[in-house]
Amino acid sequence: MPVYNFAAGPATLPNEVITQIQQELPSINGSGMSILEISHRTPMFDDIINTAKQDLRDLLAIPDNYEIMFFQGGGTGQFAAVPLNLATEHHRIALLDSGHWAARASDEAANLGLTVDTLASTKDTHYDRLPQLTASLPTDTYDYLHITTNNTIEGTAYRDLPQTNGTKLIGDMSSNIMAQRYNVADFDLIFAGVQKNLGPAGVTLVIVKKDLIKPVEHIPNILNYSLFAKKNSMPNTPPVFAIYATGLTLKWLKKQGGVDEMQQRNEKKASLLYDFLDNSKLFRSTVIAPDRSLTNVPFVTGDPELDKAVIADLTDNGLLNLKGHRSVGGLRASLYNAMPFEGVQALVNELYKFEKNH
Ligand code: PMP
Repeated sequence: MPVYNFAAGPATLPNEVITQIQQELPSINGSGMSILEISHRTPMFDDIINTAKQDLRDLLAIPDNYEIMFFQGGGTGQFAAVPLNLATEHHRIALLDSGHWAARASDEAANLGLTVDTLASTKDTHYDRLPQLTASLPTDTYDYLHITTNNTIEGTAYRDLPQTNGTKLIGDMSSNIMAQRYNVADFDLIFAGVQKNLGPAGVTLVIVKKDLIKPVEHIPNILNYSLFAKKNSMPNTPPVFAIYATGLTLKWLKKQGGVDEMQQRNEKKASLLYDFLDNSKLFRSTVIAPDRSLTNVPFVTGDPELDKAVIADLTDNGLLNLKGHRSVGGLRASLYNAMPFEGVQALVNELYKFEKNH
């Protein structure tokens, strides 16, 4: 029985990438050493990190005036790094409260002493839709506006970005980077943990306009953009294996046809599941149609006990990790780049069977 892993992250990786890691694990590039053993201060690792950067640039069409950096500390680390590096003028930021991860970003910025203005929130409707700006942003007031392009837990995603009226735009793209096309130049900074669409856990991408990288005093070196830019992301030991495995996944993405191809596949996968849910008498999506995510699909029966029974049935059939986040309940299918169409077909078939028998 094939197994499909619908986890929200760390998440399923392409079989080809896992196989390549397995083959190369004892000896990378004929060196007689494992990637798990090599120093980052080697020409071999320089090549790995520089190739990954170039592949990112190609795949996302990142303009030359943007720097690409690799950090540790996850998206959570960037909730601190972004304010520390960029909120240096007004010490005031704006935020759209689209769910759990936007709220964590808000908490961390406040924790660092910034004023956080939540300009819109959809908390009242359990984040079943995206918050939108209702008035134009005042000029010269905020260091930036923070948005979460895809809300991993609640299952919403921005297609059209808010008009910021000149305020810098920061995107937490942790759960849909390279799963759908965004124009990098519409953002001043993008960050994303790679553990959902691009690789294993352990590395976080930061893509930022070069002219925003300025020396800032009294911030930790490990979160310092200026230092990381100067040292090619290696002022200290980087997550060597995670960067290597991300590099392999980027090559895989290129071979598949890149971001536009991924978006097409992801739209097909998501439509199959949403169409089923919209026609079901037992299950329903928890998100209004125009705001639905391509990568994270929460759904419920309305009865928590029945939800549990569905999850048990799916697990018995090799359809794994479909339990919804505790704040939403129900089920959640994460359909990242490496989830094949056949996996979603198998899921829909099993849900259909379950519905028929109930
Ligand atoms: N932002 C988003 C949108 C996320 O989905 C997550 C994690 N799932 C985070 C931030 C936090 O990332 P990390 O666990 O890598 O710190």
